[in-house]
Amino acid sequence: MRVGKRLTSAGLLLALLAAVAPAAAGVDARTAQKIDEEVDKVRAEIIKIRRFLHMNPELSNREFETAKLVAAKLSSLGLDVKTGVALTGVVGLLRGGQPGPTVACRADMDALPIQELANVPFKSLNPGVMHACGHDIHTSVALGTAMVLTSLKDRLKGNLKFIFQPAEEGAPADEEGGASLMIKEGVLDDPPVSAIFALHVWPETFGQAFFSPGEIMASSDWFQITVRGRSAHGARPHEGVDAVVVAAEVVTALQTVVSRSLDPSDPAVVTIGKIEGGVRSNIIAEKVTLEGTVRCLSEANRKRIPQVMENLVKNIAAGSGASSTFDYRPANPSVYNNPELAQTMLPTLVRVLGRDRVQEFKPQLIAEDFAYYAQRIPGFFFFLGVRTPGQPSAPLHSPTFNPDERSVALGIKVMCHLLLDALEKQSVPAGDGLGF
Ligand SMILES: [Zn+2]
Ligand SMILES: [Zn+2]
Repeated sequence: MRVGKRLTSAGLLLALLAAVAPAAAGVDARTAQKIDEEVDKVRAEIIKIRRFLHMNPELSNREFETAKLVAAKLSSLGLDVKTGVALTGVVGLLRGGQPGPTVACRADMDALPIQELANVPFKSLNPGVMHACGHDIHTSVALGTAMVLTSLKDRLKGNLKFIFQPAEEGAPADEEGGASLMIKEGVLDDPPVSAIFALHVWPETFGQAFFSPGEIMASSDWFQITVRGRSAHGARPHEGVDAVVVAAEVVTALQTVVSRSLDPSDPAVVTIGKIEGGVRSNIIAEKVTLEGTVRCLSEANRKRIPQVMENLVKNIAAGSGASSTFDYRPANPSVYNNPELAQTMLPTLVRVLGRDRVQEFKPQLIAEDFAYYAQRIPGFFFFLGVRTPGQPSAPLHSPTFNPDERSVALGIKVMCHLLLDALEKQSVPAGDGLGF
């Protein structure tokens, strides 16, 4: 559950960790070595799987072949597998050899409608569709983690749930999908999940983890504004109401929502990404439609922004003799890293990657539907640097995005340690435990 705003800064947490890191408990040296050996064993197979996924990307809610591959692999490992969760989602339950809680690892499986331009031998074979957000890496990391931890099953103090989710990028119009539907269909229940982990590739320094306790990514809401004026001859504007001029005023005024109406220490973005209106150069436009996105870190801003926007739009339109409609639809909440879970698990990141490879990360105004899981139970979400050293960086969602494949093995290793430590730390008897 969300307990408040950012309780502490990552800087403070990391400073604390620097003091306690040598004493930080976690998996023992033998288990750590076993993880390394098992990662080495699965490396070739998992890279093959990653390349297959990259060559065969599928759009949101259409991850049919990806889901088949995932389900087959999980079944071959002996996990309890559920398919068809939230349409194409797959969930695998690995029951540990010892009793304990259930902790989850979530990966997303969908690709984007982008024509790949990256120069790789395993280029997308699906025209106009590409894994440009690295979900092929995420799926491979989660599968590899399941493979490695299956071989350590007897040591698990509890269960691990591997969640392969469709439609993170958003379900097609008029369809449900993604994390919220997975939750609705019970993915966090039976057995109940006490904490959930996920990583996202990030096109910066290879091998660095970027983390922030509290909000790490923004909420993402959609809006559409329609301005209706009255059509007239382009040379006789006084006989009509020009929806283009009114819309232009609306666009300008909306820039003041963030700059003039909000606390500047609490970031937000209002973007209008699409304008459509008018019919011809010499006709006063009767109608203009504006569409955009609003990003916030705090619920306070998320509540206030639509109110300010609606008020501005209504008054500007009315002041010009036009009418307006305002349609605002909340989508993803902000992604919240539970500070207590962060405090418990950050030593693991530091131990596996090294102190200088765990970086404080300013919250990003991008969005991720992992937010829904983290609203329900303690969540831990971090970014993993995947930029090949010496190579120029191509951003996420770009046609040249090309993460360094070594991130798959590294991601598996980090995820294995996180999940094992989470089970270990939650299994400490009540009273001494680090309950999340
Ligand atoms: Zn994306
Ligand atoms: Zn993504």
